[in-house]
Amino acid sequence: MTDNVERPLRPRPSINRDNQFWFDGAAESRLLIQRCVGCGALRHPPGPVCPSCHSFEWDSIEASGRGTIYSYVVNYHPQLPAFDYPLPIALIELEEGTRLLSNLVGFEIEAIEVGQAVEVEFIEYDDELTLPAFHPAG
Ligand code: ZN
Repeated sequence: MTDNVERPLRPRPSINRDNQFWFDGAAESRLLIQRCVGCGALRHPPGPVCPSCHSFEWDSIEASGRGTIYSYVVNYHPQLPAFDYPLPIALIELEEGTRLLSNLVGFEIEAIEVGQAVEVEFIEYDDELTLPAFHPAG
């Protein structure tokens, strides 16, 4: 991509009443996890009902931001101009127990390993979109 071409914005997430809190948290550089008020179970991605006890009541907790790489892929194609490539995408297992899909940053692609400790950071892509990404811990 050349410097004189304005980069398109990242695709917008699909925000609804169940996941709005999560994106609002990300905008404040807070990684949130939905928690069932009925039984205390944590769940991600957010949804309207607890799969354990079927309660519709929920709140959220703030995650520590620490976790490990549970699995990952490195995307090379197809390339969209809003993203940098190669694009590592990981399933992060947070220390609280839930998992989320996120980008990895600050890694040598060849050095990414399952089980590696990571920590969250927040990337402001544009005025309306801030998302978590994970870099090597320590
Ligand atoms: Zn529950």
